[in-house]
Amino acid sequence: MSFTSLGLSEPLLRAIKQQGYKIPSPIQLQAIPAVLSGRDVLAAAQTGTGKTAGFTLPLLQLLDQSKPADPTAVRALIMTPTRELAAQIANSVLTYGRFLALSSTVVFGGVGISPQKKKLKQGVNILTATPGRLLDLHNQGCVDLSHVEILVLDEADRMLDMGFIHDIRKIMKLLPQKRQNLLFSATFTPEIRQMVKGLLDSPVRIEVASSNSTAENIRQVVHPVDKTRKPKLLSRLIQDGNWEQVLVFTRTKHGANKLVRLLEKDGISAVAIHSNKSQGARTRALADFKQRRVLALVATDIAVRGLDIEQLPQVVNFDLPSVPEDYIHRIGRTGRAGLGGQAVSLVSIDEHKSLAGIERLLQRSLTSEIIAGFEPDPNLVVEPAPTSTRPSRPRPQSKRGMGSKPANNRSKGSQGRRPTKSAA
Ligand code: AMP
Repeated sequence: MSFTSLGLSEPLLRAIKQQGYKIPSPIQLQAIPAVLSGRDVLAAAQTGTGKTAGFTLPLLQLLDQSKPADPTAVRALIMTPTRELAAQIANSVLTYGRFLALSSTVVFGGVGISPQKKKLKQGVNILTATPGRLLDLHNQGCVDLSHVEILVLDEADRMLDMGFIHDIRKIMKLLPQKRQNLLFSATFTPEIRQMVKGLLDSPVRIEVASSNSTAENIRQVVHPVDKTRKPKLLSRLIQDGNWEQVLVFTRTKHGANKLVRLLEKDGISAVAIHSNKSQGARTRALADFKQRRVLALVATDIAVRGLDIEQLPQVVNFDLPSVPEDYIHRIGRTGRAGLGGQAVSLVSIDEHKSLAGIERLLQRSLTSEIIAGFEPDPNLVVEPAPTSTRPSRPRPQSKRGMGSKPANNRSKGSQGRRPTKSAA
């Protein structure tokens, strides 16, 4: 099926052609006609599926085909959780809409508000925004949302995770009752379902892959290893595997900075991206990584949310996420657009519980390979939790998850499961 047969107009088809897209992605095949029909849409889709074009193209077409009372009004509002994602979506709006007479801009925090006010004053039809800055601008009387015809909530699950629910509620109250709503989310937690109930009117449901499963073409592997040896193991994997580009997730900003220093010591160029970095530093880090001036981008979940980094071959969970859904978001950075990818998780004994949570969500166990020279110390047990009086025991040898075969040329280890003595 071609883009032409989806009912898109000539100026949009021209822009698509310039982008070099030949055929619509599965989400585009479903989302474009659904949005064009004027119905509300609920889509389960991760970044990398082409979802941005999936909502941007028909949104542009709908706005272009109807004549508004006020040609300078904000007619479409696209809300998204992070600055980087907002910037990327705004770029897509410009790219796909380059042959249409619609104006657009993007507003997000962390940068000066004055240029954004100036742009809004000139009149903007399509506004891409992060919730906090949008409210700021509204509170200062700089934006009128009472003419919005189409609302897009992109990465809705992450917006809730990041605590934007109150801001979103406030923003909803500023919109007209009658409008088209499009909601995109990678996962469907009870909170999202709740939000959907109040927001969408008999939506068209779109799902390109099971919402809680991960792309088939991603090879997922767990390397059991002691916590303190993770940096060295990562250096080894990068060097032995001749990796050229890897996105590494850490749980904390401090952990990201520390890992960058350790990788650099091993001669691996690395840069951190997290919310303590200025917007300029984040943009630079991303550009350096995309243009392959640095090999490793070390990031926290929030900072990397929704980043469009094409054809990422490797993603590493240096720390497992505490929220299982984040695992799906993280590895969504690899294996994109039909390309293969590898998602590697370095798992220490204290993370077995997190791993079990992820495997429950995936409804399958992950292949586990112990790397020779990095066998976990069998005498280690999990550190006691601060409130607990006794150290919790590591998981017994189980049939699930990490109880799996060592790889060829890799040694078998006992994985620290024997609760012999405490190292604490
Ligand atoms: P997204 O999931 O919206 O972040 O898009 C992921 C990437 O796929 C972006 O780099 C898009 O430019 C690209 N893309 C979107 N649609 C297509 C298509 N139909 N054919 C090829 N690439 C596409």
